[in-house]
Amino acid sequence: MSIHLDASSVARTLAPTEPVILNRPAAAGRAARFFAQKFPGKSLYAVKANPSPDLLGVLWDNGITHFDTASIVEVRLVRDTLGPEPTLCFMHPVKPFAAIHEAYHIHGVRTFSLDSFDELEKIVEATRDADGEVASDLSLCVRLRVSSEYSQLSLAAKFGVDLADAAPLLQATRQVADCLGICFHVGSQAMTPFAYVQALERVRAAIVDASVTVDIIDVGGGFPSIYPGMEPAPMEDYFSVIHRAAESLPVSYSSELWCEPGRALSAEYNSMIVQVDKRRGKELFINEGAYGALYDCAHVDWRFPVRCLNEAREEGLEDFSFYGPTCDDADFMEGPFRLPADIQAGDYIEIGMLGAYGAAMRTRFNGFGTGLALEVSDEPMASQYNGSRKDPRSSDNVVSLR
Ligand SMILES: *Cc1c(COP(=O)(O)O)cnc(C)c1O
Repeated sequence: MSIHLDASSVARTLAPTEPVILNRPAAAGRAARFFAQKFPGKSLYAVKANPSPDLLGVLWDNGITHFDTASIVEVRLVRDTLGPEPTLCFMHPVKPFAAIHEAYHIHGVRTFSLDSFDELEKIVEATRDADGEVASDLSLCVRLRVSSEYSQLSLAAKFGVDLADAAPLLQATRQVADCLGICFHVGSQAMTPFAYVQALERVRAAIVDASVTVDIIDVGGGFPSIYPGMEPAPMEDYFSVIHRAAESLPVSYSSELWCEPGRALSAEYNSMIVQVDKRRGKELFINEGAYGALYDCAHVDWRFPVRCLNEAREEGLEDFSFYGPTCDDADFMEGPFRLPADIQAGDYIEIGMLGAYGAAMRTRFNGFGTGLALEVSDEPMASQYNGSRKDPRSSDNVVSLR
């Protein structure tokens, strides 16, 4: 695959009439090395954020050896893509029996999460050997419900055992687990490291209540990326705060610290070139939308950075909203997206930071959702990992590299 310079050169040379996904393996590799080298423990990539086989390969090549999978299809995907070496952890707390059985007996998965006695029993049954003996090599992580109050996207309602009910489940899990873990998820795009401190205090209470020996503390995902209006503290702050809080927990001497970043390892990997099909006042009709990579713009008011690729546009920036290409009124993205006031039909726009929950969200609804993927060599529109971060206390918008 040939490598292009940047979005502008792709738009100029190909004049694409369908959206084009741009891959930035160098940026994803840099993110992987950052976590592999600086997180004070083990980093599991949460595959659901972006299951692209190319991205999985980049992360593996740059030091990510563990993968957090949430379905049997993700388990198979990582095995098919990367072979037998990576360690796969099945971290969805509610799994079909057949999925656990296949993951354990065929794909070598030994780590599972759970938040109920029903799931614990299911895991024990599905992992018995041919003679009916209970497995002796399970790492089982009990998912604790924690607050999502510091995150942009809550993950607090669906999964996790309440602190008040955690002790008997931890004790029962300890009976059958070779390694016992506690995991949680503070919600996606956690805007302050304090989210993890608060969650780890709840972990401390659970351990004290249950009086069990804990071998794994898994702080989950939630590590933020950079978007318009959302500029979090530098990633190093998260790591040092988590390190300090985890060090003080009453866990076994040889215990391990894990994290499960999805967004933080994938956000910078993709951007996308879209074309303006029509302009109606401050509304731009573009060829990608809510049933595609811009799902989060329509459904959770997410904003992604944008730039117009037509250099002839020179008026100042104004706020625009987008309509996607399907016939559906819901295919609307309010933004605001800051673009030149004289932008017109036919112009190309690059939408940045789409690697996490962007490229992965595309559907074929209404005949859209196809198109090229190309590699580019320029920097992503913002990065947590290139040393360019301004002091978050003195800036309030995206760090632009141009
Ligand atoms: C979605 C998810 C992640 C990744 O979350 P990010 O906010 O993208 O880092 C990690 N762990 C679990 C269990 C998840 O469901």
